[in-house]
Amino acid sequence: MKEDYYELLGISKNATAAEIKKGYRKKAIEYHPDKNPGDAKAEEMFKKAAEAYEILSDPNKKARYDQYGHAAFEGGGGFNGGGMNMDDIFSQFGDIFGSAFGGGGGFSGFGGFGGGGQRRVKGSNLRIRVKLTLDEVANGVEKKVKVRRKIKADGVTYKTCTTCNGAGQVTKITNTILGRMQTAAACSTCGGSGQILDKRPSDADAHGLKVAEETVSIKIPAGVEEGMQLKVSNKGNEAPGNGIPGDLLVAIETVEHDSLKREGDNLHYDLYVSISEAVLGTSKEIDAVGGKVRIKLEPGIQSGKILRLRGKGISSLNGYGTGDLLVHVNVWTPKELNKEQKDFFERMQGNDNFEPKPEKSDKSFFEKVKDMFS
Ligand SMILES: [Zn+2]
Repeated sequence: MKEDYYELLGISKNATAAEIKKGYRKKAIEYHPDKNPGDAKAEEMFKKAAEAYEILSDPNKKARYDQYGHAAFEGGGGFNGGGMNMDDIFSQFGDIFGSAFGGGGGFSGFGGFGGGGQRRVKGSNLRIRVKLTLDEVANGVEKKVKVRRKIKADGVTYKTCTTCNGAGQVTKITNTILGRMQTAAACSTCGGSGQILDKRPSDADAHGLKVAEETVSIKIPAGVEEGMQLKVSNKGNEAPGNGIPGDLLVAIETVEHDSLKREGDNLHYDLYVSISEAVLGTSKEIDAVGGKVRIKLEPGIQSGKILRLRGKGISSLNGYGTGDLLVHVNVWTPKELNKEQKDFFERMQGNDNFEPKPEKSDKSFFEKVKDMFS
C-alpha cells in the first residue's frame, strides 16, 4: 500500500499550491541525502516526497490523484508512474529552492549521485497507442506489443570523455562588464554523459546503439479511459554509456461498443420490447461485458423503466468496486396494424385496464435518474 501523497508532505487535502510547495521543501530538507549520508530510509523518504510533489504540484495530475488515488498513475504490475530517478528530483529543485542550493546554502551539492554532479543521460521515451475494447477496459487486460527500441549493440564499450574528463559539462569563463562570469554547459563531445564510444560494433550507430524489436507486455488495469497515458519504466530507448533507458508511454484508445454506452463505471443498454412482450412479460438476452446475459421482464413492465444489474459494469480504476449495467426499457409501439389488430385496440379504448394509473413506483424518468445518482 502506498502512502497518501498529502500525508507524505505533511499537508491537508485542501492545501494550496503554496502550502504544497512549503510541505515539500520541508521534507526535502529533512531527508536530503547530504544530510543523511548512507541512510537508505531517508533516501527512500526523499524520493517519496519528490514523487508526491511531482503529482500534487501539477494541477492535472493532482486532479487525477484526488479522483482515483494512486491507481491513476499505476495500474499495478509494470507501471510506476511516480518512479523518479535522482536526476528528475534534483531538476525539480530549481523551481522549489531557487538559488538556495546553488549558493552553497548548507548543502554540498549532489555528490554521490552519478558522481560529482554529473547527470546520467536518459534515453528518449517511446510512445505507442493501445486500442482496447469495452470488454478489455471492463476487466483489465495484459497486452503484448512489439516495440522497436534502441538498445546497446553487442560488444560495445565506452570510455571517459576526454573533453570534459567525464564530468559531462564544461565550464567557460568570460569577462563581462560585471566581472568574470563562470558558466557551465553540457559537454558537446559526449552530450553530457561523460562517456564516449570506445569500441563500436559494425551494427551500431554513432552512439553504440542499434534498433531491435522487442515484445513488451503491458498490464492495463481495469477502468482506464480514452486519452489516459500509462508509463512502462525503462522500456524506451536505451542511452549510451552508463545512461538509463527512457520510458515507454502508452496512450489508451477505446473502441466504442455497438450497444453499450459507458458513463463513468456504469454501462447503459437500450432494450426495445414489443407491446405484447411488455403486457405479457418476457425474458430477453442483452449485451453485457464478457458476453450476453438473460434478464426477465415482469408482465406489465412500463416503458422507461430502468433495470439495474449490479456489478455488471466497469471495475473502477481505483480498485473500489464495480459499476452497474442499467437496462433502459423501451416499449415499441407498432406503426402499422392489420384490421384484426386495429379492431382489438379500438375495442380496448376506454377499457379500464388500458387506462394509465401511474403509481409512486412508476416515477418519471427524471426522478429515477435523480435517485440513481443521489
Ligand atoms: Zn564530455
